[in-house]
Amino acid sequence: MVKMDDIVSLCKRRGFIWQGSDVYGGMAGTWDFGPLGVSLKKKVMDAWWKYWVEDREDMYGVDAAIIMNPQVWQASGHTETFNDPLVECKECHNRFRADKIAEGVSEKVTTEEFKALGVKCPNCGKENWSEIKQFNGMFRTNVGVDPDNIAYLRPETAQGIFTNYKNVVDTIYPDLPFGLAQQGKAFRNEISPRDFIFRSREFNQMEIEYFVDPETWEEHFDKLLAGCHDFLEKMGLKPESIHELDVAAEDRAHYSKRTIDIEFDYPIGREELMGIAYRTDFDLGNIQRVSGKNMEYIVKGGGKRFIPHVIEPSMGVERLLMAILCTAYTEDEVNGEKRVLLRLSEDLTPYRFCVSPLLKNKPELVAKAQEVYDMLRKKYGNVTWDDSGNIGKRYRKQDEIGTPKCIVVDFDTLEDGTVTVRDRDTTEQIRVKPEEL
Ligand SMILES: [Zn+2]
Repeated sequence: MVKMDDIVSLCKRRGFIWQGSDVYGGMAGTWDFGPLGVSLKKKVMDAWWKYWVEDREDMYGVDAAIIMNPQVWQASGHTETFNDPLVECKECHNRFRADKIAEGVSEKVTTEEFKALGVKCPNCGKENWSEIKQFNGMFRTNVGVDPDNIAYLRPETAQGIFTNYKNVVDTIYPDLPFGLAQQGKAFRNEISPRDFIFRSREFNQMEIEYFVDPETWEEHFDKLLAGCHDFLEKMGLKPESIHELDVAAEDRAHYSKRTIDIEFDYPIGREELMGIAYRTDFDLGNIQRVSGKNMEYIVKGGGKRFIPHVIEPSMGVERLLMAILCTAYTEDEVNGEKRVLLRLSEDLTPYRFCVSPLLKNKPELVAKAQEVYDMLRKKYGNVTWDDSGNIGKRYRKQDEIGTPKCIVVDFDTLEDGTVTVRDRDTTEQIRVKPEEL
């Protein structure tokens, strides 16, 4: 089993992910993506968009503002209930999320329940707790010059979809069922961010709100759930690492009639990767009530009208990235030496090929390698060049960043026009003409 430290260390040394504001000593709960991390993240987000939006006829995209009218969060219940149970150790004054330091309790845990569990402070080991306070997880800011004009950074992308439902129906009028998809940043003022990019204060979501006739919700729930599994497999995750948790009624949001968490076996344990929830007409109903605008959908032809019900597949981008990296991370042995490689699918790797001249002080090799490099770049785009160190070192580096094929131009190339193509996973080498790549 891969260890968390191995992933963090690889991400750092190869330029995937760094601590946010690293140069100033860091900023808790924030992470910055380097050149390779951006490339991987973008490919994953694009693959999701293609799978759910471009390859389907019933899905449409939206991209809403991060700062929204505060009424949005009143109507959605976030102002009232987007809370975490905050508890303070009276000995060392460290603060924690009660449901994260006690075993087997939900975020609805009460002070009495918590105190009965005999939890010791993770910092000082003592057991002297404050009352549990509800801490709202939304980031506040103020808009314009008036400091009392409060707004929030969105804690989820979903409401940016719901608030545009009426715009979409009024302009495009898609047949029911249809889905609206959005990708983008969301913010959560975590009491104690932890576990690398798993629980951070600023993250990306990919969410779909799928609008259905309430009589058909179960059928669509099952289809979307199957689609989620299919997508995760396409991202390289193994079915045996993925588990469905049918969330019990008492643990579900009060409006949800069914929620399934899809969990993944991370190095930190089995944790939520994504969720799919049947949200009934809770959100559109709230918007209708608070805005006074009619959210009904009129079925074309028949005239049947109702507020559509909603099924929401929701995924955190960073949690998916972490699952992909943990699955791809492999250690093996080559010629008696330990090797680290990322077995990413070639659709996700930052680079598809690395091109090298065997020796960098032989101009004829360098010129030929440059020719091959230019040709492949024109064809594929994501091709890298490496003429540093010796060939063995170059291979190790490309293995670690997941480059599937390394191409070396040597003296035989000048004779017969073939290059060496070395495979990341098997380390086998074959000779082919570059134009056949
Ligand atoms: Zn303490």
